[in-house]
Amino acid sequence: MKCVRCLNDTAAKFAEAPDKSGAWEMYICSKCNFSWRNTEEEDVITPELREPKFQLTNEDIANLQILVPVPPLRK
Ligand SMILES: [Zn+2]
Repeated sequence: MKCVRCLNDTAAKFAEAPDKSGAWEMYICSKCNFSWRNTEEEDVITPELREPKFQLTNEDIANLQILVPVPPLRK
């Protein structure tokens, strides 16, 4: 499915209401790591309504800075 932030076809459902009521579902994008629930406001889950400054292009993703890894815990 299409990610609402980067618009790539790299999103998928990864959780749903545990009582199987269908009350909510949650999705995550494997490209930009954005996650969202289907119950959020329309201006969060509809790409055309989202604030453009919150969108990510593939170029933006390619140029993201690398996070410094957390070192192992001291013993
Ligand atoms: Zn994405």
